[in-house]
Formats: sequence, C-alpha cells, structure tokens
Amino acid sequence: MRIKKLELIGFKSFKDRTVIQFDAGITGVVGPNGCGKSNIVDALMWVMGDQSAKDLRASAMTDVIFAGAEGYAPLGMCEVSLTLENDGGPFPAKYLKHSEIMVTRKLHRNGEGEYFINKEPARLKDVQEIFMDTGAGSKGFSIIAQGMIGKIITAKPEDRRMLIEEAAGITKFKARKKESQRK
Ligand code: ATP
Ligand code: MG
Repeated sequence: MRIKKLELIGFKSFKDRTVIQFDAGITGVVGPNGCGKSNIVDALMWVMGDQSAKDLRASAMTDVIFAGAEGYAPLGMCEVSLTLENDGGPFPAKYLKHSEIMVTRKLHRNGEGEYFINKEPARLKDVQEIFMDTGAGSKGFSIIAQGMIGKIITAKPEDRRMLIEEAAGITKFKARKKESQRK
C-alpha cells in the first residue's frame, strides 16, 4: 500500500482545492510556521476516519471546516480524498481487483458527514477496515506526533499492547471476534 495523492477542499486552512502528490521515495513538507504543514497530517488522519476532535487539534469536529480568513467567508463544508495504490497489500479482499482505492470524507457545517470508497457511499466501519493492520489509520503507528514517543514509554502495559498488536497485524481479527461475539 502506498499513498499516492491527498486532495483537500475547504479543510482547515486549505480553502481552495489543493492536491498533494506523493511520488515514490520520501516526501518532505516544508514551510514557515502556520503555513499548514500539520493541517496536512490532520487531513490524513481525518480522512482515515479519526473521530476525535482533539486528535485533530480542534475543539469540535466542525472546526476542521475552513473558518474564514481576512477577505474570505467561512465555508459550509469540507472534503478530503486519499488515493492509495493497491499493490496487493493488506487490503480487505473485496478491494483487490481495484488498482487504486480512493477514500473520501465530507463534513457539513450542520455536523452531517459522509464517507465514500471509490466514490460509492460507505460506512465509517468500511473505511476503518481498509487501514486496520496496515500501520496507517488514525490510530496507527505510522503517524508519530510530537510527544508520542514519550507517551509510549510511559503508557500502561495494556495501551502499549494495542500498538504492538496493530504492528503485528492482529487488530483486524480481534475486531471481527468482538463483532461476532456481539451477534
Ligand atoms: P508550525 O511550523 O508552527 O508547526 P504548521 O505549518 O504546522 O506550523 P498548521 O498548524 O498546519 O501550521 O496551520 C496553522 C494554521 O491553520 C493557523 O494559521 C490556523 O489559523 C489555520 N487553521 C486551522 N484551522 C483552520 C480553519 N478551520 N479555518 C481556517 N484556518 C484554519
Ligand atoms: Mg506544525
């Protein structure tokens, strides 16, 4: 699995449609303080289904919608799309025939949100399943925020175990077990 493209519309400071291409190799994002570098990481976490405004450095989820700036009115909705290259990686079997997977999340100012996978309406659960055990995902280990290393070191054993389980690729099976026990 490889991230190919991130498209932001009205997300945080990205008022206009902005497309960020990720070519092979390492991509660095540089720029002055406050130019929106961390907002790009927030957009990645958000489109992967993050449900915590705090994770996104916001007090309410609708704060991720462009709130206006000098000479620009606030927007009524935002949209982020993440395009992944499907190289047979650990995706759910139903997506294996697609060479690309595009996940889209939209949020309206009234709090209503929608998810799409390859432009088809999807549930949050379907989106989360795509990223389970890939190390990506809003709670995965591939996004290392400031202060997180210290948190891992001082975490309770049960919390640290969750990270190890995600890295070992068994989160998906545990989630399915829990679901089948509920039925
Ligand atoms: P640093 O180098 O200091 O870490 P950065 O490039 O990571 O900076 P960000 O934190 O990504 O900067 O962006 C901060 C900017 O985004 C602030 O100017 C803030 O006003 C703006 N911003 C955040 N949310 C919104 C929003 N909903 N609408 C408009 N602008 C927003
Ligand atoms: Mg930053």
